[in-house]
Amino acid sequence: MIGNITKLTLLDYPGKTAATVFLSGCNFRCPFCYNGALAEDRLPVEDQHSPESVLAFLDTRRGLLDGVCISGGEALLWSGLADFIQAVKDRGFAVKLDTNGSLPDRLAPLLDQGLVDYVAMDVKNDPLHYAETIGLAHFDLAPVQETMQLLKEGTIPFEFRTTLVKEFHTPDRLLALARWIGPVDRYFLQTFKDEGDLLQAGLHSLSPKEIEACLKAVRSICPNADLRG
Ligand code: SF4
Repeated sequence: MIGNITKLTLLDYPGKTAATVFLSGCNFRCPFCYNGALAEDRLPVEDQHSPESVLAFLDTRRGLLDGVCISGGEALLWSGLADFIQAVKDRGFAVKLDTNGSLPDRLAPLLDQGLVDYVAMDVKNDPLHYAETIGLAHFDLAPVQETMQLLKEGTIPFEFRTTLVKEFHTPDRLLALARWIGPVDRYFLQTFKDEGDLLQAGLHSLSPKEIEACLKAVRSICPNADLRG
């Protein structure tokens, strides 16, 4: 169920020391996913962790870490997520949730109950190229759009982020993406690295010049957009 734990990260939760918990399983198949076994839920059982063992670990980190980042896979697929987050918050940790934005009906109650303190949502590409970027033949964008609206109209701090891959992203597509998401405060472009357990081989990162062109395009809509990683 819980695939991996990073016991200390200074990067995953902005401004906080945190542990990151990776939930197994995802409804997307992004070719550039570097957590292939996790996304496809094929980690050996002996490498997985029970929620109880993760909470026991967090008990040893009370007062030492600020927060817990809950990532995936797609964490919102897990029916036990709300109870798990409540147990994490009961231990005094702030909670950041990473999501691909496809499950607004599951995210909304977590936000309403104040269970999540920060949300990072992947926006994979402009609407025209979304399905191919997430490795699916067809994809209904409505849930992603709904999650964006939910976050933009809510009070919980959030960020949108896009991992740039040469085979999928161009400055024109990034401009269309930025027009779609609108002028949000926190939008980050992340560089793809050919490392980890990729779902598809043969993908490439953009050159520094191409990344700069993408950043320039999105800054015409989101002036605070920045690079990460
Ligand atoms: S990159 Fe994220 S959304 Fe895409 S397949 Fe991997 S875990 Fe799922």
